Parts: sequence; structure tokens; C-alpha cells
Amino acid sequence: MPRVVHSPRYECDIGPHVFPVEKFRLTMERLVAEAVVTPAQVLEPQPPERHVLELAHTPTYLDDFLNLRQTMSVLLSELPISAPIRDAYLLATGGTLLAARCALEEGCAMHVGGGYHHAMADHAEGFCYLNDIAVALRALQQEGLLQRAAVIDTDVHQGNGTARIFCDDPSVFTFSIHQENNYPVKERSDLDIGLPDHADDALYLERLSAAIPLVLEQAPDLVMMVAGADPYEYDQLGGLRLTIDGLQRRDHMVVRACAARGVPVVGLTAGGYAQQLEDTVTIHANTAREVLAWNAERDAAGS
Ligand SMILES: [Zn+2]
Repeated sequence: MPRVVHSPRYECDIGPHVFPVEKFRLTMERLVAEAVVTPAQVLEPQPPERHVLELAHTPTYLDDFLNLRQTMSVLLSELPISAPIRDAYLLATGGTLLAARCALEEGCAMHVGGGYHHAMADHAEGFCYLNDIAVALRALQQEGLLQRAAVIDTDVHQGNGTARIFCDDPSVFTFSIHQENNYPVKERSDLDIGLPDHADDALYLERLSAAIPLVLEQAPDLVMMVAGADPYEYDQLGGLRLTIDGLQRRDHMVVRACAARGVPVVGLTAGGYAQQLEDTVTIHANTAREVLAWNAERDAAGS
């Protein structure tokens, strides 16, 4: 049974902020209401131990973050810090690790959470305290469950933290397709596609479809799909013009290509700041729908 990972504690109080922390709960409610997910499929994560976090983060930064110190490395998150916020990010890191374990067993798993791709080894950035993607991949590598992995980052913002953390690591191939003229200051992924402002479904899907084979040529044992909802045309922090349908076709394209080669996929929700919160929820729910269809896509490709 493909798993969906989520914790109610992701919805922590961050005060008035563009980041809608209610989206995690609302996405889960939508998935259950639409019978995409049954409660029996849902797993709750545990926070990773500190030595696991140290696979991707420096001890100094972890000292500051875990002890809620308001140092520059913590404040660069552009979020407040409190024990519930810290714990939400710890749980989300455990959540991505748990979802990745499940995907290695079942072919796919959806994490309704995670995708904090701006977090660097030694500091927070862009609403991201811990790079759950990097921690999870390194943890599975250390356990010998994984050798090679790829990150397909389709959030509107470049996955700069992930790119930097893995820049000298040939075992993890980082791919980011994003709006060029937007936050953050760009790092170098193994493959970057910087799209022009206002790029639409057709241009986006054309560029993505050309890139996916290059990623899968790297023969990853697992793909982490950082499926931000923010390339959406009505996103407050994005400048691309994808429709809800175009975003679902994006997710379908990634999942189908991976499934056809038998490469397990983990879906992560990442960013999403639509003017209407309902739209962000719809886009994330559609990502889950596509990821959880991995087995059907693999069977269809094999027949
Ligand atoms: Zn984003």
C-alpha cells in the first residue's frame, strides 16, 4: 500500500505570514474527502536524531537552531523561531526520510510536507530551517539503502540549498527548473533550467520533458520530486503562469517517466502561496494523486 506521510504538528503558529501552514492539514483533508487516500495509508513521522541531521548540517548551525538562538544563521529563515516551529521542521525532516523509506519499498510515497530546498548546511533560508531532502538522502545512503539519487525540483524557486549541499557529491544529481528572475541567488545544480518570466504550461512542459531523460540517465535509485505549487499563475511569490491543469501534467510527466523505468518517487509539497489557499491545496492534492499512481503507471508502461 503506497504511503502518505504527514503530521498535524506541521501546522505550527508562525504569526501573520505568506506561508500558509494550514495547507498541510487542508491537503490531507482534501485527499481523504476525495478518497485518494484512506486513513490507513497515513504514517506520522518521528524527528530524526541529531547525528542524522549532521549528515547535511553543521554542528554550529544545529546548536543555534535546536536551542532556538536568534543568530543570523537562524534569522535568515525569514520566519520566527519557537519550540513548536523547530519541532515542525524536525518532524518534516523525519517525514521526508520516512516517505523515502516507504518509496524504496512500494515504488512511491507522498509527503504532505517537506521540500525545504533553500536550507543550507550552515544556515536557514527562505522559510526553510532544515534541508529535509539532503538529510533523508544522506541517511539512506549511510544505511546502505541507496547509492545514487536524483532531485527533480519543480518549485518556482531554485533549489539552492540542495544544489549547494550536493555540489561536490556525484552520487546525488540535482535538477531544478525554476523562474530565473526570482529568489534565490542561484547556486549551480547539476542541471538548471531558468525559465523566463510568465512562462506558460506549453513552454514549461516542453523544457521539463526534454530534461527528464537527462536526469534518469544518471540511473538514480530514487527520485525526490520537490513539487512546489508556486509555478502557478496566481501565486504571490511566483512569476510563472502555469495553470492547475498544467501543474498536474508536470507531476504526471515526472511520475510516468520514473515509473516506466521502475525508479521510485517521493513527492514533497514544498512551496505554494496562491492568492486563494484552495488553489494551493488543489495543486498539492493533485501531486499526491499523480505520485500515488506510480504503480499503475509502471504497469501501463510494462504492458
Ligand atoms: Zn518556492
